[in-house]
Amino acid sequence: MNAKRRVYLSPPHIGEAEQRYVQEAFATNWIAPLGPNVDEFERELAEKVGARGAVAMSSGTSAIHQALRLAGVGRGDRVFVSTLTFVASVNPILYEGAEPVFIDSDFETWNMSPVALERAFEAAEREDKLPKAVIVVNLYGQSADMDPILERCGKYGVPVIEDAAESLGANYKGKASGTLGHFGIYSFNGNKIITTSGGGILVSNDTGALAKAKFLSTQARDPALHYEHSEIGYNYRMSNVLAGIGRGQLQVLEERVAARRAVFQRYKEAFAGYEGIEWMPEASYGTATRWLTALTVNPLILGVTPIELVKALAAEDIEARPVWKPMHLQPLLRQYDYFTHAPQFSVSDQLFAQGLCLPSGSSLCEVEQRRVIDCILSQIEARRKTHESA
Ligand SMILES: *Cc1c(COP(=O)(O)O)cnc(C)c1O
Repeated sequence: MNAKRRVYLSPPHIGEAEQRYVQEAFATNWIAPLGPNVDEFERELAEKVGARGAVAMSSGTSAIHQALRLAGVGRGDRVFVSTLTFVASVNPILYEGAEPVFIDSDFETWNMSPVALERAFEAAEREDKLPKAVIVVNLYGQSADMDPILERCGKYGVPVIEDAAESLGANYKGKASGTLGHFGIYSFNGNKIITTSGGGILVSNDTGALAKAKFLSTQARDPALHYEHSEIGYNYRMSNVLAGIGRGQLQVLEERVAARRAVFQRYKEAFAGYEGIEWMPEASYGTATRWLTALTVNPLILGVTPIELVKALAAEDIEARPVWKPMHLQPLLRQYDYFTHAPQFSVSDQLFAQGLCLPSGSSLCEVEQRRVIDCILSQIEARRKTHESA
């Protein structure tokens, strides 16, 4: 029998051009933060998504942090943010000593509920404490419903930061996901759609703000020969070597998205006859990346819980995960306000309780995917048998 390879949730998938750009950096001794690969990567990415400019960073998290600084977020300020996300959407709010306020999802998109957002705005207005910024997450590669969100934020004069870490290559009504707010950020962590092994980028049409981001992310050095500083700065820029990987990866972005969508399609077909399995919906306003294939599993119908499936898959050396645990349930963040989609009903709690993410890498081959599918099917069938014989 062949040794079976471990199946990862979302491993890096390197193409052919990456090494050439990296070698160029070595050959020309641009082994530094910044350099020609960074400049070109920024230009090429901005062009691809249709933004005026981009600033490459050491991570998606640092890009979010810079966006918050540019939006003027400081100590004691409030920032509204989607609750159903990875903690990196929220940590930069805490870095600034600001206060996150969590906004629920809706079932149609799994993303920020415009209804919950409006209730949060109304409450904030009553208390005369409007947020300084709203961070909208495009979960698992699907754009949030940006029009009603932008409309509400516009009404209250609050800038929008799009956390598009998972949605590079997705679109919303024909526009690239990540370019609809005042600022957008993408991540190039190893598990994202494309990677630089670690990195992120800030995009915007506000070129003045982008110039400021370059200044802040290189230690905020005032123009002087001696080192002069009048603001807090960061060492947050992407290295020229890693930007070379990014340039190669950018060339295969569309292929990577298509491959993830094909992975999703195969799962969908394999479980088509099974009641109790529901896929994260794809909203009609755009195309998602299907960064991760996400679904809900109803244990009352299927006889098996998402956690039992994660464990059964782990026993076969397959990595699966529950859906993100919502931020308002995290020990770190429990003390902050949370606005649900409907009074007394939290959509994100339910998605967390029943949600499951399956291996979704663009390099996942059909044989490996079959292992994932067969493992889940055997779990479901086993419970059926015990149920029937009981
Ligand atoms: C990955 C991710 C981030 C953070 O990006 P890093 O590059 O890992 O810092 C932020 N938000 C979301 C939703 C993510 O999935």
